[in-house]
Amino acid sequence: MSEAEKPGSKSLPIGGILVKPGSSIEYKTGDWRAFRPTLDEKKCTGCLICWIYCPDSAIIRKPPIVAINYEFCKGCGICANECPVKAITMVEEGA
Ligand code: SF4
Ligand code: SF4
Repeated sequence: MSEAEKPGSKSLPIGGILVKPGSSIEYKTGDWRAFRPTLDEKKCTGCLICWIYCPDSAIIRKPPIVAINYEFCKGCGICANECPVKAITMVEEGA
């Protein structure tokens, strides 16, 4: 594209806006993960502390315990750090 053909700033669409609400559900962030949280279901007490702390809402309530949604878990490790009974362990992806 030559310099003359390039669009000017006034012809570009406005950036930084969400044109469709709720679109983050289509953006699977699980493939960013280097470490995977693994849950020991026998240790989990269902206290939901990990559910409160997870920044990606990747902890699912599954009474009487929880489950991890790996489509959206980025592997930050906050859940493992906050779990009072150490029911979540971070393991390297592919290990
Ligand atoms: S914080 Fe630990 S014990 Fe509590 S629900 Fe999560 S995994 Fe289970
Ligand atoms: S590792 Fe991070 S993103 Fe994944 S479930 Fe735990 S707190 Fe949520």
